[in-house]
Amino acid sequence: MNLRAELVIIGAGPGDPDLITLKAVNILKKADVILYDNLINQALLDHASANCEKIYVGKPPYKEYTPQERIHELIKEKAVDNKLVVRLKGGDPFVFGRGMEEIIFARQNGIKTSYIPGITSMLAVGLSDITLTHRGISEGIWIITGTKKDGTLSRDIQLAMQSNTTIVIYMGMKNLPNIIKECINCDKGDMPAALIQHASLPYTKIVKGPVKDLEILAKEHKITHPALIIIGEVTKIETEFAV
Ligand code: SAH
Repeated sequence: MNLRAELVIIGAGPGDPDLITLKAVNILKKADVILYDNLINQALLDHASANCEKIYVGKPPYKEYTPQERIHELIKEKAVDNKLVVRLKGGDPFVFGRGMEEIIFARQNGIKTSYIPGITSMLAVGLSDITLTHRGISEGIWIITGTKKDGTLSRDIQLAMQSNTTIVIYMGMKNLPNIIKECINCDKGDMPAALIQHASLPYTKIVKGPVKDLEILAKEHKITHPALIIIGEVTKIETEFAV
């Protein structure tokens, strides 16, 4: 057990390297080791010192990936002798980021931990003129995973379809046909929706249309992972005015 080593779980933000907190950058500068994910912008690694060890532990979807156990092993192996170990994760580590699993593991192994929040990717859809709540139009936000651990669709999508809230689905592209089916079954096939890939990055792509057309639109515009599915009237608010 080594109580002096520390693991800092950092949210890297949605992709634009400027959308990270100052607190995170200050820690990156001091880090001895950075274990970084697939979705982080690699430009962020430039904040690290020359002798910082940078280890890729990404989990690209549908491909060979670093198992969570291996990441845990690396945390245990590197967080020794007063080392500052950073776990750099896309968006916010506590929004579908498994950040708490790593914190629990580290604490179980006597490693001190801390957390620095990041801007979760759904907040970057504002850069494409989509507000997630709007007075009189959306009463809240329902944030749901499109890929449960067992591969099935969350029942919450059905429940959310009954509400006056915006639905944001993370990790949903693989299950898009099933998500659309679910919405059509709830009689909401015409609900306005959007798909946004690479939000906050220069090559971001966005399409809008009724939920029932999303699969065709995704194919036409070649929208794949990493993308968010946004369902709700907020995706249809008119923002194009002459100024
Ligand atoms: N912790 C991350 C989410 C990780 S789950 C966060 O807070 O954003 C991975 C999913 O996040 C992807 O399948 C996609 O739905 C979404 N995602 C991450 N970055 C994205 C981006 N720049 N644009 C659109 N979706 C993104």
